[in-house]
Amino acid sequence: MTSPSSAPTLIAPSSAALTPEGRLRTYEVRTFGCQMNVHDSERLSGSLESAGYVRADVGAEADVVVINTCAVRDNAAGKLYGTLGHLKSRKDRRAGMQIAVGGCLAQMDKDAVLAKAPWVDVVFGTHNMGSLPSLLERARHNGEAELEILEALEVFPSTLPTKRDAIHSGWVSISVGCNNTCTFCIVPSLRGKEKDRRPGDILSEIKLLVDDGAIEVTLLGQNVNSYGVEFGDRQAFGKLLRAAGEIEGLERIRFTSPHPAAFTDDVIDAMAETPAVMPQLHMPLQSGSDRVLKAMRRSYRSERFLGILDRVRAKMPHAAISTDIIVGFPGETDEDFEDTLRVVEQSRFASAFTFQYSIREGTPAATMADQVPKAVVQERYERLVALQERISLEENEKQVGRTLDVLVSTGEGKKDAATHRLTGRAEDNRLVHFELPAGSETPRPGDVVSVTVTHAAPFHLLADSADGSPLRIRRTRAGEAWDRSQAESCGVPAPAGAAPRAVSLGLPTLRVPQ
Ligand code: SF4
Repeated sequence: MTSPSSAPTLIAPSSAALTPEGRLRTYEVRTFGCQMNVHDSERLSGSLESAGYVRADVGAEADVVVINTCAVRDNAAGKLYGTLGHLKSRKDRRAGMQIAVGGCLAQMDKDAVLAKAPWVDVVFGTHNMGSLPSLLERARHNGEAELEILEALEVFPSTLPTKRDAIHSGWVSISVGCNNTCTFCIVPSLRGKEKDRRPGDILSEIKLLVDDGAIEVTLLGQNVNSYGVEFGDRQAFGKLLRAAGEIEGLERIRFTSPHPAAFTDDVIDAMAETPAVMPQLHMPLQSGSDRVLKAMRRSYRSERFLGILDRVRAKMPHAAISTDIIVGFPGETDEDFEDTLRVVEQSRFASAFTFQYSIREGTPAATMADQVPKAVVQERYERLVALQERISLEENEKQVGRTLDVLVSTGEGKKDAATHRLTGRAEDNRLVHFELPAGSETPRPGDVVSVTVTHAAPFHLLADSADGSPLRIRRTRAGEAWDRSQAESCGVPAPAGAAPRAVSLGLPTLRVPQ
């Protein structure tokens, strides 16, 4: 099998982006699923904008609706076909509207999508996201649906132009696919074997993001710390963290998701010795029972898992550790579940994503004989959630009185307007809602404020001013970039000396695909 290309991909302007009246068609991308999908959607948006489409205003009906699906989460198919049902009535009354379905579920269901929802115009998979504009054009030209699913990755998604959701923060994919065979997971069959990008390409992309105003990046991979397996360097991930930490202007480095089996001490050392790597770790446990871990084909055991957490905390005492846990895997007994509760209690996770096991067609676990009854799964799930909420609250209460550096974000504090607060993330990724005292200067998204925590809840911290004194704000390059983007979107000239900023971010040089 040939390696996927890592050269930048040119998306040509598409005639289908124009209506017969000469108006630019609008698009909307709806994302289901994980961070990988969120990042892929930025690539889909970037590809569409390179072809000439413009993003629809929030709440407006777009000419092209793209659904980036997920096959991993519960009821993914139900969610997709429910959404398509709603979109059909809109399409029936809106001439020229197109619907495209891509991502993991499309890769899995292939022509079943068109069989179940024949009003869909384009179906594309996880390996050919850059084809979306040309598939939309062909579907419009031929007046019939286009289906294109490739079995292998041709170009890294990172070669596509991107339209980032946040200026201060960016995702950087370092690998795609996974060599593991966890029995509950559909990812290996949909995303294929792990393909690693070259370190130089990754570091160049990070530098471009930083040049564009980002001060935070999150490195992404299905199994992020096995990075290097393809080119035979077992320590490549730790080296990459250290190299990224050298990039001038990059203040916060995060990564997700690592696998406990491949999590080696050189990575812990690299985290602890690289100031820009944040004291945060998402480490999926999945189960605390060694018997269940074996059935899941997860090659670590609970003792190894707890040992990793101990070593991380020994080097980074304030690290906030989060996890994923599946309840009710086939064959899980009461004793197995008690083991999970015990490991959760010992792990002191800051937060956990908890899932009830449900059958995913196409995975080995789907055909295992001893599926756990729904009522039992529900009861165990509720106990686990209650335990984790108690621990999350206790861990958050330890933050009260601490002064945290919070990177101001947008859109994360739903009640901010009503409560006169703003929201951001602490270095350990905890969500902090902080008060904006009357008369205080307002920080911009991307600026950093120093605030003292006054109250803890299971899922967030509050930092209210004790005496109404103004916020302590560090104005950052990311805040400047946010100012420039606001000025550009209003047609106002950027401040003197400000570097021009491209709206759609690609890579430095472009190549027409062969
Ligand atoms: S490590 Fe396991 S759960 Fe994660 S993507 Fe690979 S197969 Fe799926």
